[in-house]
Amino acid sequence: MALERTLSIIKPDATRRNVTGGINAVIEKSGLRIVAQKRIQLTENQAKAFYAVHAERPFYNDLVQFMVSGPVVVQVLEADNAVLKYRDVMGATNPANADAGTIRAEFAESIEANSVHGSDSLENAAIEIAFFFSGCEITG
Ligand code: ADP
Ligand code: MG
Repeated sequence: MALERTLSIIKPDATRRNVTGGINAVIEKSGLRIVAQKRIQLTENQAKAFYAVHAERPFYNDLVQFMVSGPVVVQVLEADNAVLKYRDVMGATNPANADAGTIRAEFAESIEANSVHGSDSLENAAIEIAFFFSGCEITG
């Protein structure tokens, strides 16, 4: 197994409820290391660009408005097999379908306000990490 990095976002529903520490505890307990982290307010243009892949989906505009509705915490997570590992730790997109013990089962409010984002492939992880972080902001 290869050491990988993936991009995580703790979404505005979670920062609003002050549960970023609880989510980080689940992340760290799973063996993922938080090797970079910052709390930021996304602009509308940044949210649109980040989710451009979903531009044709009916929920795109609502998703962009949700993502700018409060601060987010963007993170780089590192572990063996980090991309798939974090998808497992996050749980299903719709929290109603998320396995017990996953972040979304424990923290998410709805299919939109589902507390966390995680990259869906190693290729997209590299693109998404570069969207938010420069090399010197990431440590081991
Ligand atoms: P995931 O975050 O699990 O990779 P997607 O990439 O399919 O899921 O969707 C990106 C985000 O868009 C989701 O995390 C969620 O916030 C929102 N979303 C997805 N599907 C819906 C939907 N049917 N209605 C509203 N929002 C949605
Ligand atoms: Mg996705």
